[in-house]
Amino acid sequence: MWSIGSVEVTEVAELTTTSSAHWLLPDARPERIVEIDWLQPRYATAEGKVHMTIRALVVVDGDRRILVDTCLGNDKQRDVPAWNERTGPFLDDLSAAGFPPESIDTVLCTHLHVDHVGWNTRLVDGEWVPTFPNARYVFARSEWDYWSGESDPMDDVLRADSIQPVIDAGVVDLVDGEHRLTDHVRLVPTPGHTPGHVSVVIESGSDRAVITGDLAHTVCQAAHPEWSSNFDVDPGAAEQTRRRFFAEHADTDVVVLGTHWEPCANRVISDGEVWRVEPW
Ligand SMILES: [Zn+2]
Repeated sequence: MWSIGSVEVTEVAELTTTSSAHWLLPDARPERIVEIDWLQPRYATAEGKVHMTIRALVVVDGDRRILVDTCLGNDKQRDVPAWNERTGPFLDDLSAAGFPPESIDTVLCTHLHVDHVGWNTRLVDGEWVPTFPNARYVFARSEWDYWSGESDPMDDVLRADSIQPVIDAGVVDLVDGEHRLTDHVRLVPTPGHTPGHVSVVIESGSDRAVITGDLAHTVCQAAHPEWSSNFDVDPGAAEQTRRRFFAEHADTDVVVLGTHWEPCANRVISDGEVWRVEPW
């Protein structure tokens, strides 16, 4: 748990892996990872495998309980074996951390990819129902416009099991990319990975943190902001967003909470023309 002024942020991990990252970032082959000397041993192995986590972050501000991203979910049919038909303890872990599903008042999806929307719903008596019965679900309007647009790029199975049920339940609020959730928590647009991708800025007193979403999937992109993901919708915009993000937060006291970074909480430090990170 991290305290950002009066705001508390808790991570609940669903799946941590150590593997070659080049399935996700084609340039991040093991031989390139080992060239980045500061990655070892905390972020990567001597063989160039990278630690990554699929996690949710719970932001507590006063009586508000905001769940940022909802991971993979259980019982969902997916192409990736480790993501398919899961029966994991995520909801139990969330409750054990102090956040039973009914305590969550807001679910924020930084974007609508498969590993950020899974626990939007759960399977009850053969039907997908909202997992968090007292929550409003917040999506950026531009993100929803893209995935629901004419090009219809979203996988039909994903749409049917994780998105449409919350739309149909009337619990989704579409908001502008610049949107304030509480006095201390606001969204900022960080487009590129997806058109309506947002990050989450937390400011309380003199403390500040930012939740990345997938603007950078791993810390190796601090050293190589030009390394784009196979899943970046607009790689050029994604690189520009990464460069702007790392430059803005370098050599400051901003706690950077990487949605898939392992470990999650880091500071960004200038490193010549690029950047490196170190655990908070
Ligand atoms: Zn992701």
